[in-house]
Amino acid sequence: MSFEEKRDIQRVLWEEMRKLTLPKCMGCKGIKNKYRCCDRTFCDKVRAMLELWQIKGYTYREDQEVPYMGKHGCTIPAHHRPICASYVCPENFEEDPAFKEKYVELAKLCFESETPPLPRKV
Ligand code: SF4
Ligand code: SF4
Repeated sequence: MSFEEKRDIQRVLWEEMRKLTLPKCMGCKGIKNKYRCCDRTFCDKVRAMLELWQIKGYTYREDQEVPYMGKHGCTIPAHHRPICASYVCPENFEEDPAFKEKYVELAKLCFESETPPLPRKV
């Protein structure tokens, strides 16, 4: 399989992970904060990864509470922010065994796709 094909698969996997976790967070009963668990600390971690991967073209808005947040959600594609795309709180696992099963299966594929690390591209 070529690099490009592997990267395409990786992109699809992380997007699937985003789609799996997003409804959990959108329906979050634990956090009333407008941005749920998104905050500057996580944006900063993503920013560091983008720098490491030498990916340019995304605007870090210093003046915003959550610098990568856009009008319609995060402005960074899921495969460039694995830490956020895969983040859900433990309660989601306890309350939803079907979700847990899917999550564990998908997370395994996502993290396997990162080994060995692939050069990223915008
Ligand atoms: S990770 Fe948990 S607490 Fe955070 S927004 Fe998602 S569901 Fe809510
Ligand atoms: S999902 Fe996007 S906006 Fe939210 S913390 Fe991660 S990088 Fe920032």
